Amino acid sequence: NNVLLEVENLKTYFPVKGGVLKKTTGYVHAVDDISFKVNKQETFALVGESGCGKSTTGRSLLRVIEPTSGKITFRNEDVIRLSKEEMRKKRKDMQLIFQNPYSSLNPRMTVNKLLSEPLRTHFSMSQKEIEEQILWVIDKVGLTKEQLDRYPHQFSGGQRQRISIARAIISKPSFVVADEPVSALDVSIQSQILNLLIELQKDLKLTYIFISHDLNVVRHISNSVAVMYLGRIVETGDTEQIYTSAMHPYTKALLSAVPSKDPLQKKKRIILKGDVPSPVNPPNGCPLNSRCESAMSICKEIRPELADMGNNHHVACHLYKE
Ligand code: SF4
Ligand code: MG
Repeated sequence: NNVLLEVENLKTYFPVKGGVLKKTTGYVHAVDDISFKVNKQETFALVGESGCGKSTTGRSLLRVIEPTSGKITFRNEDVIRLSKEEMRKKRKDMQLIFQNPYSSLNPRMTVNKLLSEPLRTHFSMSQKEIEEQILWVIDKVGLTKEQLDRYPHQFSGGQRQRISIARAIISKPSFVVADEPVSALDVSIQSQILNLLIELQKDLKLTYIFISHDLNVVRHISNSVAVMYLGRIVETGDTEQIYTSAMHPYTKALLSAVPSKDPLQKKKRIILKGDVPSPVNPPNGCPLNSRCESAMSICKEIRPELADMGNNHHVACHLYKE
């Protein structure tokens, strides 16, 4: 079995409070019934515009945010059913790299403290084990022993992201959610960090969920991809397949906005009309129906499910039938 993580019908809703009594008046459908599988030692990308639910999905998988319902099978166990204590232990094997290396590292802690603290408090390792792990991890991410006594502000953005990555892999996880890990960095630094992530994946046999709005980065790093819109997956498949043969009108619009490297191959930009509807009252039927040029009457009534187009390619759109 090549699957490390299987997500079934995951929903994460947030209550909306209103009025003087702060009563729940509705729910943000941040993640709205999504299913996917992630293969061992591969990179599965979640793409889409900000607010589409990709970060909430990543955090829900590790229960940094509590999912509302669904099933998350990781190593034959449903993560959602674990107790808080069991989940704390599980984090050794399931880790998160945050987007912003400027705000995610405590400025009052030295690198040594930043790295040792999770091992001591969450995994109760001995001092000797911790020291060994720290030496192991700084070598893996390209930091030096001299840098251990410094504070985050003494590092560049790229080096800070190396510290964040070290924090995530120091417990030797097999699964890492990387949420926009290079988006806050200068373009010149981005490829260094991406290459580090790729090297670490080979070296440590890591499986990644890679969250990004940058379609060029995603094409470079991922094996498969899921395109999200309004909390749902509208299209998923092998990365090259999606990039060369996208079927969903939303995916086509997203890809049409990526600047082509070949100036002679001018693509026609597809502009969707209107704005993304509120995730508090998502539309009936297809989430894209108010903005889609191809919308038909069925699109306002029936929600299209992901249909199998063969070769691992799935599309949720009434234009296509299995
Ligand atoms: Fe457009 Fe209908 Fe397909 Fe939705 S289901 S993307 S509205 S054609
Ligand atoms: Mg985000």
